[in-house]
Amino acid sequence: MELSQRATILTPSLTLSIDSKAKAMKAEGLDVCGFGAGEPDFDTPEHIKAAAQAAIEMGFTKYTPSSGTPELRQAIADKFKADNGLDYKPSQVIVSNGAKHSCYNAILATCQPGDEVIIPSPYWLSYPEMVRLAGADPVFVQTREVNGWKMTADEFQDAMTPRTKMVIINSPGNPTGAVYTRAELQAIVEVCTDEEILILSDEIYEKLTYDGAEHVSVASLSPAAYDLTITINGFSKAYSMTGWRLGYLGAPEPIAKAIDAIQSHSTSNPCSFAQKGALAALKGDQQPVADMREEFDMRRNYMINRLAGIPRVSVVKPLGAFYVLVNIGKLGLSSTNFADRLLSKHHVAVVPGVAFGNDSTVRLSYATSLDVIKKGLDRFEEFCRTL
Ligand code: PMP
Repeated sequence: MELSQRATILTPSLTLSIDSKAKAMKAEGLDVCGFGAGEPDFDTPEHIKAAAQAAIEMGFTKYTPSSGTPELRQAIADKFKADNGLDYKPSQVIVSNGAKHSCYNAILATCQPGDEVIIPSPYWLSYPEMVRLAGADPVFVQTREVNGWKMTADEFQDAMTPRTKMVIINSPGNPTGAVYTRAELQAIVEVCTDEEILILSDEIYEKLTYDGAEHVSVASLSPAAYDLTITINGFSKAYSMTGWRLGYLGAPEPIAKAIDAIQSHSTSNPCSFAQKGALAALKGDQQPVADMREEFDMRRNYMINRLAGIPRVSVVKPLGAFYVLVNIGKLGLSSTNFADRLLSKHHVAVVPGVAFGNDSTVRLSYATSLDVIKKGLDRFEEFCRTL
């Protein structure tokens, strides 16, 4: 039996294979310190769970409109206005099964064979695969540590060809924790408006910024930026709702309509009662979001200080998300070799940067307890000093 070309071009997820090795070691009873997590280690706030439970009790268990309930789309439009200064009508808002699904729908609706999509590297590992699934070609721009792992407008311009259709901006970013400033985004947007390049702005880590860093929504920068941008966001990171599978986007009307059609014929609506929980998340108490951010910030500071004391590794202080990207280039091992040896000898799981397009880095997540972080960094330091 022959698989489709589409299926065979996909690279299996490296993050998942390290994760399964770490889990198998834990199951054997080994004390493994995991820095691999891509999700907050907090429970979903009670009032959100209660709203979904009540929805089930009330029989809210059937199909909803395929792009989400009118009340949730309205609440998201209100959120876009209040938090991001964006005017999206509910008809421009599509709720999907996670922000990952929103990204995929957006790329499918706009990109096709012959198109190129520019992706700053290190990148979140699903972007290139989504672009390939749409039949388009990812084009990577290697960002530099001295620039805080951020793509400059000049680097962007150099990567452009007549085939460039879209650029993906992820701020705050995974795996770098980089947060683009208003001026940096403005410069990129200017290139896009000159050439009519679409912008996929993945803002899923919006609520997790530190040291006073400002999150700026790309679409809010100018009317031209608004017309070119698809704004992605979701509930997974801000409200610790990864398992609920709910994300959303705001887009210019014709793009939203196309995405609505794709979704209606592929997955239909996101889970009905999960949408009730999401409504409670947006309308209810925001204190849990602030508490979680504060805890992340404390762990981030601890981790940065510890890493600064380890010879021959370097980090750019991340201003967002919950990851630290550590440059291990001077230690003489590839990122996979480093991660494998660290896991098997010292029982510490990190994600090799090659998964994100940069083989001289590893990603450490601080979405785990301070105790695990302390113990794991002791071992990490010991390992680095032996190299
Ligand atoms: N974008 C980025 C940059 C992410 O890191 C993630 C989660 N790892 C997502 C999108 C997807 O989030 P979800 O599908 O859970 O909403």
